[in-house]
Amino acid sequence: MKVFKGQFTQQEAIPEPAIEQAVEVMRSGRLHRYNVVDGEASETSLLETEFAQYQGAKYCLACASGGYAMQVALASSGIKHGQPVLTNAFTLSPVPGAIHNVGGRPVLVETTDQLVIDLDDLEGKIDSSGARLLLLSHMRGHIADMGRLCDLLRAKEVSLIEDCAHTMGAKWNGQRSGSFGLAACFSSQTYKHINSGEGGFLTTDDPDLIARAVIRSGSYMLYDQHDAAPDHDVFVDIRLDNPNCSGRMDNLRAAILRPQLKILEDNRIRWNERYRLLEAQLSTVAGVTLPDRPNAEEYVGSSIQLFLNQMTTSQIQAVIASCRERGVELKWFGAEEPTGYTSRHDSWRYMDRQSLPNSDAILSKLLDMRVPLTFTLDDCRLIGEIIAESVSDVVAGEDSPEYLESVIQA
Ligand SMILES: *Cc1c(COP(=O)(O)O)cnc(C)c1O
Repeated sequence: MKVFKGQFTQQEAIPEPAIEQAVEVMRSGRLHRYNVVDGEASETSLLETEFAQYQGAKYCLACASGGYAMQVALASSGIKHGQPVLTNAFTLSPVPGAIHNVGGRPVLVETTDQLVIDLDDLEGKIDSSGARLLLLSHMRGHIADMGRLCDLLRAKEVSLIEDCAHTMGAKWNGQRSGSFGLAACFSSQTYKHINSGEGGFLTTDDPDLIARAVIRSGSYMLYDQHDAAPDHDVFVDIRLDNPNCSGRMDNLRAAILRPQLKILEDNRIRWNERYRLLEAQLSTVAGVTLPDRPNAEEYVGSSIQLFLNQMTTSQIQAVIASCRERGVELKWFGAEEPTGYTSRHDSWRYMDRQSLPNSDAILSKLLDMRVPLTFTLDDCRLIGEIIAESVSDVVAGEDSPEYLESVIQA
């Protein structure tokens, strides 16, 4: 029996130039972003300028996490207590959590079988909720038809904030994910596309929004040390009207990230080699369906999703168990109990219960797998074979409840 020995949570080492720069920062003792000597731009401010440039955005704030970036973006866009905010039903818990934490009321929108936001349901819920803002999660890197989406939002006068935790480095029709709306949020947490342990970014072209975010993030009156923020006069009232809620990035993390930004495009290519290999292999397996990747979508294949549409719940559990036994970690979005990073909308009990029958049906058949860059192409080939064999075994043993039991028990 083939067994895979790799670790699904093992990312690559931090590149040597990043380690050297981090050591420099530690030797200097100046880890706080505002601790600079005369005429010095901090690592954090330099990173903000570079990330804004990368995104083609006017302004950037580096902060403590992707979740913090979303909260400060929502608060700085003027969300008030009790206001509805639209977001995807299929996402991870920091997204509805961010809305709730700034006092907003999440209104969940259905997902399609291509794992993107359902634009018909979105239109209906804009009308029924009266929400003026969509926090769009490009969940697992799947990008909706941004042309249609933006037309709809424009017609309905709804603003867009993009959650690009899974699309840093991705594009739609040649345009960077994160450049379609009022603002965008990114994460540099270990399992995303660049790795500083924790970290996040907010980008926007709106000078007032970024100024509010800078003050809220804990700049005190040192906001002129942000090279990727607007001039002093934008801050005159904003610095007094906005409460501090510290969530700054520090120079150590910024030093680790700057060299990684330079190799993000190379890494996108490496991720996609792995993704396409797995996709080609799994798409030939009877019983497995993969989401289409539209031509307009230039994705980053750092994870792969597969549907087992014809299988029952116990068969899906048997596939997961059989893969796990052979070293392949699959996550199931249909599980009733939240596990690891994965939870369903009905586990977010702090908010109003919402009925999302289409998303529930789609997620009940959906498996998800991380593809870290530490996996070689041969590793991916082996993983593909293990999944294919596990699915075929379960399909073949269809009439045998004993087989299902034995695998689930094992
Ligand atoms: C990871 C993640 C975030 C936020 O990331 P943190 O940096 O961990 O706060 C936001 N949205 C999605 C979909 C994520 O997976």
